[in-house]
Amino acid sequence: MDEEREPLSFEEICTRWGEEPERYLGSVVPPIFQNSLFTAPSVEARSRRAGRYIYTRESNPTTDILNAKLAALEGAEDARCFASGMAAISAALMSQLRSGDHVVCVKHAYYPARALLQDYLSRFGVEVTFVRGDRVEDFEQALRPNTRVFYLESPTSINLWLQPLEEVCSLARSHGITTIIDNTWATPIFQRPMQLGVDIVVHSASKYLGGHSDVIAGVVCTSRQHIEAIHREMTLVGGILDPFAGWLILRGLRTLPTRLHQHQQNALKVAQWLEQHSAVHRVLYPGLPSHPQHDLARRQMSGFSGLFSFTLKQNWREAAVGVVDALRMFHIGVSWGGYESLALPMLIEDYDGEQRWGLRVHIGLEPPERLIADMEQALRHAEDKGR
Ligand SMILES: *Cc1c(COP(=O)(O)O)cnc(C)c1O
Repeated sequence: MDEEREPLSFEEICTRWGEEPERYLGSVVPPIFQNSLFTAPSVEARSRRAGRYIYTRESNPTTDILNAKLAALEGAEDARCFASGMAAISAALMSQLRSGDHVVCVKHAYYPARALLQDYLSRFGVEVTFVRGDRVEDFEQALRPNTRVFYLESPTSINLWLQPLEEVCSLARSHGITTIIDNTWATPIFQRPMQLGVDIVVHSASKYLGGHSDVIAGVVCTSRQHIEAIHREMTLVGGILDPFAGWLILRGLRTLPTRLHQHQQNALKVAQWLEQHSAVHRVLYPGLPSHPQHDLARRQMSGFSGLFSFTLKQNWREAAVGVVDALRMFHIGVSWGGYESLALPMLIEDYDGEQRWGLRVHIGLEPPERLIADMEQALRHAEDKGR
């Protein structure tokens, strides 16, 4: 290894890194190895020790390119892809937990991840405590002798709360606890949790990594120490990524840095505009100086993506539904991270613990002026109706 070499840029990783065009007839795009098995010229050669592929549930060349790119993006030693974000999350958790273990989980983490811990892994004797998680003391107070995992998500995807990752990870380390973070919101472009001390990073690649709302996938990025256990979950529980879906994520990754910077620019414009609007109570976006954790956000992230929430002065459900129904450019739907703008009415817990009605919006790649004009007419419509 050349020690003088510059670290790879995100753009290099997303374009050339991990690919060997000369091995695929010079094809600039890697092929989709859409095969279940790999054959060998002799019985002797048919061993993994000979460096061969054997069966796609264990490994596949297309998926391996994706693993290499995602590991490099996160600054991790290795990565494994899964059939969904939830398959990645469950593999990460199950690789660490056994009966009698205790997990401390952020209370606003992605709901199915919380349900997995509370309703599913509880059947196997795993206990969970939910905490706000914006202070390291929350984790400290929840500690038990059998605590094995801190499950983090920073920022969370509805109320955009952060955890102080360096402090939380150093607490975990001093107690031999594994930290797992869902980094879907920021993507590695804006946050690299392993550099802040996190052990295992999971993503729903169905969001920004894919970026085109056309594929469901997940990934676990981690160190050599943990990858073997993750690989075992993958091959035994079997939630592997289909090679074609992997190829779609590879295609999405080509533009990941470019898209994320555009999402950031657009989202900041819309968030700043909303913050000035008379119908808006509060905008929850860590990229705004008004966010209570803005300083922490700037320390542990290098940018901000396109998903955020805002609450309304008219604090009732019909008002939020009215605004969403009046929007024309924004689609109404769950998920996010694609090119398109989305909106949903939502009951949002503000930083002070107050529940308020508002909207969760994903700011896509449309011209932000058009999105603002659309939001303006929708808010006016709802205000008129509320009078
Ligand atoms: C969508 C999502 C997931 C789950 O990912 P799937 O690919 O839908 O299984 C996990 N975490 C966050 C924050 C998400 O938004």
